[in-house]
Amino acid sequence: MYHDIGKSGKNTPLDRSVASFEKDLQLLYDKGFYLVNAADIVANRLDVPLGRTPVAITFDDARRTQFNLLTTDQGPQVDPNCGLGIIERFVKAHPDWKVRATFFILPKSKATNESFGQTGLGKDKIDYLLKSGCEIANHSIVHKSFANYTAAQVQQEVGGADKLITSLNPKVKIETIALPMGKFPKDKTLWPLLIKGEDKGHRYEYQAAFDAAWRPIPSPASKKFNNLRLERINSIDGLNGVRFWVDKLMAPGGERYISDGDPKWVSFPKSKESELAQDRVLGQGNQINAYGTSTIQPAGQPIQPASQ
Ligand SMILES: [Zn+2]
Repeated sequence: MYHDIGKSGKNTPLDRSVASFEKDLQLLYDKGFYLVNAADIVANRLDVPLGRTPVAITFDDARRTQFNLLTTDQGPQVDPNCGLGIIERFVKAHPDWKVRATFFILPKSKATNESFGQTGLGKDKIDYLLKSGCEIANHSIVHKSFANYTAAQVQQEVGGADKLITSLNPKVKIETIALPMGKFPKDKTLWPLLIKGEDKGHRYEYQAAFDAAWRPIPSPASKKFNNLRLERINSIDGLNGVRFWVDKLMAPGGERYISDGDPKWVSFPKSKESELAQDRVLGQGNQINAYGTSTIQPAGQPIQPASQ
């Protein structure tokens, strides 16, 4: 979960330096992770090479340092030192990765001047993100706490932002939302409205709602996976930061998700069978492959599709 990139040159929880962001990408790459959009994870639509682990970079608030356009003689160019520019440069140097990131957008509204802070360029940026394969996602209109919202207010904020963003480009299909400041409605019966509802005749239906912190999420094939409140990892150093969780997932017992390389199969050790959300997995059109007896398949080893 990132906010500003390189705004102050220092690292704070809401501002990651360019060098530290590059280091985060390098760490993820070196440890066998693979960039996907958050929606691909939550929908279990994971086209990830064999042996790799999916990871989603998410950006909140549509801040300018995430996606800045420079004016050049050749026309507008992506600033090489904004979040998107850094990812593009990294993928160019590591072409087995694709440019993927999830942008939780504050739309142009009375509360915000323009998505990504450059007046008049909001639509161009949405169009560019869509073309590049990144995810355009919802972060509400006014960016206030949902804690005390009524059912109508939840739908007004989610549906209203959906309408503002999708009206810029009808091809945009929003699938996820991140709650401002991670403040969920205190009334849990309202949580389903975070992902499905209607405001003034405009309907929305999403895959999942995200919190602001603090740990990796369970596999979307797991019973522990709760799509109404999924956590994220803070872009910080030290405790609960990116390296902290990478190390923890890589350690024995870390239960890192390892891809079998086939998007239509969900492969897992037989010993974990009781944790499988079978109905969800089959409902998403995936097939199930429980292998072996008790050990996790080592990364890089081919996994045999189940015969049945
Ligand atoms: Zn925010």
